[in-house]
Formats: sequence, C-alpha cells, structure tokens
Amino acid sequence: MPNSFHKAIKSALADENLQAALDGNAERRTQGRLTAFASLPDAQAMRQRAHAVRAEVIEHLDRYLEQFLTQVQAHGIVVHQAADAAQAVKIILDIAHSRAPAGPITLAKSKTMLSEEIHLNHALEQAGIRPVETDLGEYIVQLRGEPPSHIITPAVHLRRQQVGQLFHEKLGVPYTEEISEMTNTARRTLRQAFLGAQIGLSGVNFGVAETGTLVLMTNEGNGRMVTTLPPVHIALMGMERLVPSLDDLALMMALLPRAGTGQKITVYVSLIHSPRRPGESDGPRERHLVLVDNGRSAIRQTPLSEVLYCIRCGACLNACPVFREIGGHAYVGKQGEYSIYPGPVGAVLSAALFGASEFGHLARASSLCGACKEACPVDIDLPKLLLRVRAGEVSPVTPAKKAVPNAPRTLKLGIRAFSLAATHPRLFGIAQRLAGLGGKLAAPRSMWMRLPALTGWGANKDIPRPAVRPFHARWKARRKADAGGGRSQAAFIRKMLPPSPERSLAAPPSPLMGEGVGLRPDGENTGLARFSAELEALGGSVTLCLESELAGRILDLLMRRGIQSVMAWDARGLPRGLLEVLRRGGISVQHEPDPSLRAGITGALAGVAETGTLVIPGGAGRPLTASLLPEIHLAVLRKGDIYENLSQVFSLREVREASSVVLVSGPSRTADIEMTLTIGVHGPGEVHVFCVG
Ligand code: SF4
Repeated sequence: MPNSFHKAIKSALADENLQAALDGNAERRTQGRLTAFASLPDAQAMRQRAHAVRAEVIEHLDRYLEQFLTQVQAHGIVVHQAADAAQAVKIILDIAHSRAPAGPITLAKSKTMLSEEIHLNHALEQAGIRPVETDLGEYIVQLRGEPPSHIITPAVHLRRQQVGQLFHEKLGVPYTEEISEMTNTARRTLRQAFLGAQIGLSGVNFGVAETGTLVLMTNEGNGRMVTTLPPVHIALMGMERLVPSLDDLALMMALLPRAGTGQKITVYVSLIHSPRRPGESDGPRERHLVLVDNGRSAIRQTPLSEVLYCIRCGACLNACPVFREIGGHAYVGKQGEYSIYPGPVGAVLSAALFGASEFGHLARASSLCGACKEACPVDIDLPKLLLRVRAGEVSPVTPAKKAVPNAPRTLKLGIRAFSLAATHPRLFGIAQRLAGLGGKLAAPRSMWMRLPALTGWGANKDIPRPAVRPFHARWKARRKADAGGGRSQAAFIRKMLPPSPERSLAAPPSPLMGEGVGLRPDGENTGLARFSAELEALGGSVTLCLESELAGRILDLLMRRGIQSVMAWDARGLPRGLLEVLRRGGISVQHEPDPSLRAGITGALAGVAETGTLVIPGGAGRPLTASLLPEIHLAVLRKGDIYENLSQVFSLREVREASSVVLVSGPSRTADIEMTLTIGVHGPGEVHVFCVG
C-alpha cells in the first residue's frame, strides 16, 4: 500500500469531526435506502431488470448512441463529441468565449462528477471564467477549495460548525450553527449567480435513446435554474449514460433516488428536448451537448466493463464499511492526488479511467463483504470487479496479453500457495490444521497481534484465528452425531448461515422522505387519494374544489400571504376565466419571468399517484420559471389527469414533444449539511395543488 494512502487513512481515522459526520451519513442513508426499497413490491426483480437494461446499452453502445444523437440533433441541440478530458474542456471554453467574447464570464454549474473528472473548474479559472457551483454541498466544498468527498453528498465530511465558520469567513455573514440560516445565505448568494450567469452547465443523469431526451434529477432546483435561466446551456454527459426508452427511464427513476437518498422520486426531474422555441418566454436560446468518452470506450473492452453500468447513486459508498470509516478524501493515488470517484465504485473506476499504477491500490481498501453489491440498484458485482483490479485485469482483453497482478510480491506468492491448497482439498485440510495448531500452541494472542506490524493487514480490525479443525471435518462429525436425532441437512445449514439481511427492513424513514404514506383513512382507493397522500407526505398540499370555486380558493391563499402580484401561465393553459377573476380581485398578473414575485401559478399536464408528482410542460404561454423562481408554487390539476404511474405519463404525446418538461414532487429540499432536511433551497418552499374535480 503506498505511503500516501496509508497516511490519508491514518489521518481520516484520527479526525473526530470526520468520524462523527461519517457515522451520521452512513446510518441515515443506509436506513433510508432500506425503507425506500421496502415500498417496492418487486425490488429485486426491478434491480435485475435495471442490470439487464444497462448491460444491453453497454453491449450495443454504438447503436444506442447513434439513435440518441440523431434525435438530439433533430431537436436543435448542438452536439459535440470529446475523446478525452482536454477536448471536452476546449469545447466548453470555445463555447463560453464565443458567446461572451468581452468582459467577465460567469458560468453557473449544477453538480456533475464528470466536470470533476475533466478538472473543468481549474481550466475555467485559468481562462478567466468564473465557475460557480450551485448545489449546496458543491458550493461549500468550492468555497473550501477542495473536491467533493462523496459522489452525491459532496460535503458529507463536514459538521455544521465548520460550514457556519466557512460562511462567516468567506461570505461575511454572522456565524451561526442554524442549518436553515446557512441554507438561506446560500440561496440569496446563488440567486445572483443564476440570474447573472451567461452560461449554465449541468450534467446529464440519463439520455433516452428513443426520444433524444436529456434527463436531469435534482432536489434543490439548481439543476432547473442552470438549464432554464442563462441564455446558453451546456450539458456535459458521459457517453455511457443512456437508456433505450422512456419506460427504461421510469425504472431507473424508481431505483436511483431510493438507493442514493432514500426517496421514492427526486424532487425535480427535467426532461429536456430542445432550446427555447418561438413564442416561449423562458429557456436558453442555445443548448449544447458535450458527449465525453475519456476512456469509457476502452473500459468496454476490459474485464471491468460492468462498472460502466453505474448510475452514480452513491449507495455503495454509504454501504461500504471501509468508506464509512475513512470517507472520500482518504482515497488518494500514489502521488497523494485525490481519486475523483471514491468508495467501492471509485476504486474500480479510478483504476480503469486513470491507471492501475496510480490508483490500483484503492481496490485493497475493501473487505469484500458484498455490502456494495447488495446496495447497488443495478446489481453491479463490485466485489468481483475489485478482485479483478487487484489481479491486474484492467487492460483490454487480448489473447497475447497476460494480466499483471496489482499486488506486492509477498501477496502474489501467498495467493499462489493458497490457490494450490484451495484446489487440493487434502492439502487445504492439512494446511488449515497446521495453521490452527500453530495459532493455538505458539503464543496464542501475540502471534496474531504481531501480524499487522509485519503486513499492515488487520491493523484496524481483528484477524480471525484459523480453526483447528477444517469445516469439512466438523460438518462430517456433526452429521454423524445428528444422524440419530433426525436433524436434517437443511436445518443444519440454516443454523450455520448468518441471519437474512431482509430482517432489518423495518427502519426509520430518510430525512428526504415523507413520513411513509398510505391511503386515506376512509380507505378510498383512488388515484386522487394516493396522489394527495404522497404529495402531502413530501410537504405539499392538495385542495379539492369545483372549477367555480377555484379562483376564490387561490385568492384566499394569496390574500392570507399578503401577495398582490403573481407570475402565471397565460389563459390558454389555465381554467377559463381564472386570471380574469384574480385581476378583478386586485391581483396583478405577469407572464414574464420576474424573480421579485413571491407566487407562481401554473397548470399541470398530469399528476402521478404513486409518487405525488406534478407533470408540467414548458411551451408558449407556459413559462417553466413560474414553478421555479417564486417561493410559492400554486398548480391547477384536473382530477381526471391523475395517472397511476410514471410509465403511463411517459406515453403522453406532450411529454415527448414539449421543449422541456419538469416533474415536480413537493417543495425544493436539501440535506447537504449534516443530513438535516431543509426545505426551500433554490426552488419554491411551498407547493399547493388545486385539484379541480
Ligand atoms: S456502483 Fe451501483 S451503488 Fe455504486 S454508485 Fe454505481 S450504481 Fe450506485
């Protein structure tokens, strides 16, 4: 193990703040995941389906890419393909400079690990462009000048006191330990960046091959801001992040947030098809897609190709007993540089993308317990891949090439001896008896205590002593003894096995989830009842009313909040006469984006009962900013437009054809500081649905 890695581990283990922060994260994320998956009746079958979908895409990547890019270009998005990091950076710099040739340029970013991979921020700063991270966790680590320590919770290594002090020093605000106050500070500061940026840059969670859809999932709403407000949007996408169809997307949307944050669905899912179209009042006039290879094509040819199935949910990090102790910043290369991707998936990805000579040792930071595989929503066999990295199988498979094991000479000798014994049962039995007897006779404790000093292995956990009698001998003896007692072989095996992990499913909910929902007490098993229950559990409200009562209900809410002006869709997208009545009631109605307005009124194409989701299409007279900029979002939904699930909604023509569609599931939220749920980060803090029946 390189000295740099050893040192990083030691310092992580000695850091009390880090240990407390990691404990909180691991506990809540793991329990949240188990609870969220418990709400799926066929979770295991869904994982297998997701695995098959990803395997199909990686196997036939060229075909799906061609289909996807043809659709994307047909929608008016400019496509750029980058073979490596340097090309990707150059493309982005060229776009930025050509759109804003003179004066300072601000580029507002939503979280993308790919931009970390290509070291984009550094290149932008060198070129005089100011990158502003807008995800709360990313913003915090950017202010600290360090990389994210987790792929979905970048500031997971910090306590609230550290963030409070950071904001005090860097933003000049009074020191506080109140997480809601810190979040408000970030909201105020970053609003200026969203509104002033010439360019917005986002990642892409999925690209849908059949429709050319760019899919972006965020909880805070910053992803929506950077893809809607600046005049130019650049989407940065790894070439492997495809799904064949919208149906496959619905499957991934059910699994990814459950695994990553314990949510049934991410608060905002943007389905982007094109730049702003004629007659639309918001959305960027230019959209670019930068599709990055940077080693992915090469990985497809290696025994590590399964790592490309990854959908970056972060669950394997939260589940890994090593990551839970050392955190993301301890995963360093030989020269001490941070591994962009930490945890079990990072140990494989970093070796595959950036070289096993620099990062191959990270694969040894694993107990191979299998927790990562069990947590993975697409069932990637990470222990198998970690073993392959250890064995040096990181290069393209060619008959002439033999893998060079990535391990010290002593370990290689040991493995050879072990494989000899393991393939000869008698030899194995003898070796085990000798080891067991040695441990028993020669200074029973001290011998095992000295091993860590000699090998480094077991320095932070107990080394199990070998059994004096091999398992097979004990098995035979036990069977003989049980023969008269009628004990069956199956009963014996059951006794020897550890308890099933399913037993721990009854866990408390994640802070990003609601209380756990069911149908209304009256047992009315309707779409509306389920929709209401799900949305209310997420912090939204649902009011059922007649169309004739609608204006009065909305007026009443606005009056109670002291609101005189609203931003709204135009009359074509709302029930007839609604805006007229509001105006007569003294409300000024605007249709252009205006960040000073406190309430926005929109219609909704559909509601999704199983997740309490509103489906809101953009288009002429339907500004998406009405559901994004104001602190209160009021949506009008017809009762007959509630569907049971996402797949049904994805078959609607408008969802496939609108320039952009956003799925909204409750108010904007974050848990980036100490896993504490805070409502209303960048998007609205209140969502009220008026369901017209
Ligand atoms: S390997 Fe699996 S669990 Fe880990 S980040 Fe990727 S999808 Fe999630």
